[in-house]
Amino acid sequence: MAQEFGIVVIGAGIGGGQVVEALRNDGFAGTIALVGADPLPPYYRPDLSKKVMLEDTDPADSALRGPEWYPAHDVTTFFGDVATQLDTDARTVTLASGEELTYGQVILSTGSTPRTLQVPGEDLANVHTLRSAGDAVAIRSQFGDGRKVVIDGGGWIGLEVAAAARSHGSDVTVVVRDAPPLKKVLGEEMGQYFEDLHIAHGVTFLDNAEITGFTGEEAVSAVQTTQGEIPADLVVIGIGAEPTIELAEATDIEIDNGIPVDERMRTNTGNVLAIGDIANAFNTRLDSRIRVEHWDNAVRQADVAASTLTGGDKVYDWEPYFYTDQYDLGMEYVGHGSGDDDVVIRGDKDSGEFIVFWLKDGTLTAAMNVNIWDVSDELRALIGRDIAPERLADESVPLTEL
Ligand code: NAP
Repeated sequence: MAQEFGIVVIGAGIGGGQVVEALRNDGFAGTIALVGADPLPPYYRPDLSKKVMLEDTDPADSALRGPEWYPAHDVTTFFGDVATQLDTDARTVTLASGEELTYGQVILSTGSTPRTLQVPGEDLANVHTLRSAGDAVAIRSQFGDGRKVVIDGGGWIGLEVAAAARSHGSDVTVVVRDAPPLKKVLGEEMGQYFEDLHIAHGVTFLDNAEITGFTGEEAVSAVQTTQGEIPADLVVIGIGAEPTIELAEATDIEIDNGIPVDERMRTNTGNVLAIGDIANAFNTRLDSRIRVEHWDNAVRQADVAASTLTGGDKVYDWEPYFYTDQYDLGMEYVGHGSGDDDVVIRGDKDSGEFIVFWLKDGTLTAAMNVNIWDVSDELRALIGRDIAPERLADESVPLTEL
C-alpha cells in the first residue's frame, strides 16, 4: 500500500533539511516525507572538511535539527533509503526499501555525486572521495603524524582536506592537473596565492600531473602519476562532482546542466521542483540560468521552493556566496566570477588581509574578502556595477562610497 504525502522531498542534504523546515514555517499543514540516502538527519556539510576534520567533532553535532525535530513537526523520514524511481504521471516515488510514496508535489534536492578517476586500484582501501559524514570520519581516522596523504585535485575539497591533514602532522602531496589550484574559479594570481599558502605550511604540490593508478595489497600504498610514483597511506580524490539526476533522467523532466528550473524552482514538469546543486536555476539578478554547488545556495533556494508551494513570492535573486577556512586564512566570496576575469586587489596580499575584485568588461562579477570581516553586504552591493579599477584598489575610498 502506497503511503500518501502532500509533499515528498527527495534528498536530505542541507537543501532537503531546510525545505521541510521552511514549509512548516510558511504554514504548510499537509503531510511531508523526507527521503535521504544518509542514515543521519540532514547536516551542515561544510563542517565535514573543516570542523569535523580539524577538531574531530562528531558529524551528528553538525545536524541542522536533531532527529526528534522531524516527528515533532509531522515530517515522515526515510533516512538511509534511496528513491529508485519517480513516476511523474502517477505521482509516485519508489524507494530502495520497497516503500511506495504518492505525492501532490515533489521537491528534488539530490545534490551531487563526487567524480571518480576510473583508474586501476581505485577500489583499494583508504582511497576515498568526500561527500558524506561517513567519508569524513573514515578520512580523518587515517590522518596522523608522518602519514602520507595524497590528494587529487586542487579545488575546495583538495585544499581544505590538505590543511586538515597538515594540522594532524600528515605529509601531504596535492596532485593538480592544471596548476595553480583554483585557477578556473579565482584565476592564476589568486590560485598561486593559495598554492603558496599551502607550500608555506609544508604541503608538496605535484603540478600539471595526473593520477594514472593506485597500487597496494588491501590498502593503497602508492599512487602512480604522469610524473612518477608517490607513496601513500591515504588518498582523497577531490576532482569535482556531478549533479545527481539519474532519477529525473528516466522521466520527462528536462535535463540541461542539471535540471533547469525557473526563478521559483519549478521544473518543466508539473508538481516537480528542484533545488540546490542539481538546479540550473534562473537567477533574476543575473538574468540567466546558473547552477551553483554551494550550501548557501541550497538553503536559500529551499526557502524559495517552500514559498512557491505556500503562495509566497520569493524568487532566486541573489549573488552566490561561499567561504573557506584554510590554516589562518578565512575568506568569503560573493558573486559569480570566472578565473578569466580581470583581478583587482585592494590591500596588501602579503599582509594576509585584503579584498579581491573580479571584473569582466569593466563590470564587477565577484569579490572576496580575505581575513577582513563584516564586509559581505558592502561587497554584495557592488556586484554588477562598473567601477574603475583604481578606485576599487584605493583603500582610502570606503567600500560604501565606491
Ligand atoms: P571543485 O572545487 O570543483 O574542484 C575540483 C578540481 O578538480 C578542479 O580544480 C578541477 O580542475 C579538478 N579536476 C576535475 N576533473 C579532474 C580530473 N579528472 N583529474 C584531475 N583533476 C580534475 O570540486 P571539489 O573540490 O571536488 O568539491 C566538490 C564540491 O563540493 C564542489 O561543488 C565544491 O564547490 C563543494 N565544496 C565547497 C567547499 C567550499 O565552498 N568551501 C568546500 C568543499 C567542497 P578544472 O577546474 O581544471 O576542471
